[in-house]
Amino acid sequence: MQVPAYVEYEKAASVEHAIALLTRFGPEARILAGGHSLIPMMKLRLAQPETLIDINGLSELCYLRVTDGQLRIGALTRHAQLLDSAAAGEHFAILHDAERVIADPIVRNWGTVGGSLCQADPSEDLSAAFAALKATMVIQGPGGSRTVSAREFHTGPYETVVAPHELLTEIRITIRPGAGGSAYEKVGRRVGDWPVGAAGAAIWLAGDTIAEAGIGLTAVGAPHFAAAEAEDFLNGAPATEASFAQAGQIAAEHCQPSSDQRGPADYKRHLARELTVRALRRALARAKGAGQGAPEASR
Ligand SMILES: Cc1cc2nc3c(=O)[nH]c(=O)nc-3n(C[C@H](O)[C@H](O)[C@H](O)COP(=O)(O)OP(=O)(O)OC[C@H]3O[C@@H](n4cnc5c(N)ncnc54)[C@H](O)[C@@H]3O)c2cc1C
Repeated sequence: MQVPAYVEYEKAASVEHAIALLTRFGPEARILAGGHSLIPMMKLRLAQPETLIDINGLSELCYLRVTDGQLRIGALTRHAQLLDSAAAGEHFAILHDAERVIADPIVRNWGTVGGSLCQADPSEDLSAAFAALKATMVIQGPGGSRTVSAREFHTGPYETVVAPHELLTEIRITIRPGAGGSAYEKVGRRVGDWPVGAAGAAIWLAGDTIAEAGIGLTAVGAPHFAAAEAEDFLNGAPATEASFAQAGQIAAEHCQPSSDQRGPADYKRHLARELTVRALRRALARAKGAGQGAPEASR
């Protein structure tokens, strides 16, 4: 029988209260958001926190809004709310692409954006999507707020820069003027499963040239969930199939996938290349206003 070890429970009444509780109970305390990752780990005794600090009552962390030219997402926003957000879909279609293929409605109704990022699973879909969008994370602690880029946020599998007395509070994505588009492509073993491999792309155009590209990868051992070398190649390159093929090749070469129950390393490297190309292709179509289109992998 899977039963968690004994644990104390505290309900936070505000962000400041949550931080005060984290400070009071020390490194053996853990934030409880949706609980979809933490509770199963506690049942398996892979996590044994002494105190759970429940932030589910903090409506102040549950929002999606456009402010000062940025899409701002509160850390307690549920997956389903992100999927339902017209503002997110209008500016960053990649987020809707990714949310559509994360788990199932039960997980999406309660699992949170912040919990997904803080869990730091190496196969997490949103980590790749936010890496592609070059998002910024807002972290709050006893001394105030600090920001880090999405690519600095994860320090390794299941590790982030969030200190034991800190809380992730917000994710910010800058809305750039001009022609831009983004897309996410995932291959999983079955509907709602974690990815065998997935890629997200965001591009901004200057005429027929790529002014800036962002590429996120997950489940394939990409450093910081990103394909920085492929982005460097694309910046200033013509927005063509040949450029995308080369970028896919570069992305695959810089991954370090591991063989596991989801597939062999060679197959995952193949996915890194192919899904990068597909995501770039669809991001370009969106940047040119050719509509959203369904992910190629799900056609
Ligand atoms: C059946 C199933 C299928 C899934 N499939 C997928 C999938 O296909 N793709 C995918 O990407 N994910 C998938 N997931 C993962 C799911 O998206 C995450 O488990 C979930 O959203 C994590 O969020 P949570 O709110 O439940 O986090 P919790 O479980 O509450 O917390 C996770 C960790 O983050 C910490 N934490 C939470 N919020 C904060 C915060 N604001 N600040 C600091 N620390 C915080 C917690 O202390 C804990 O360590 C799946 C999960 C399940 C159960």
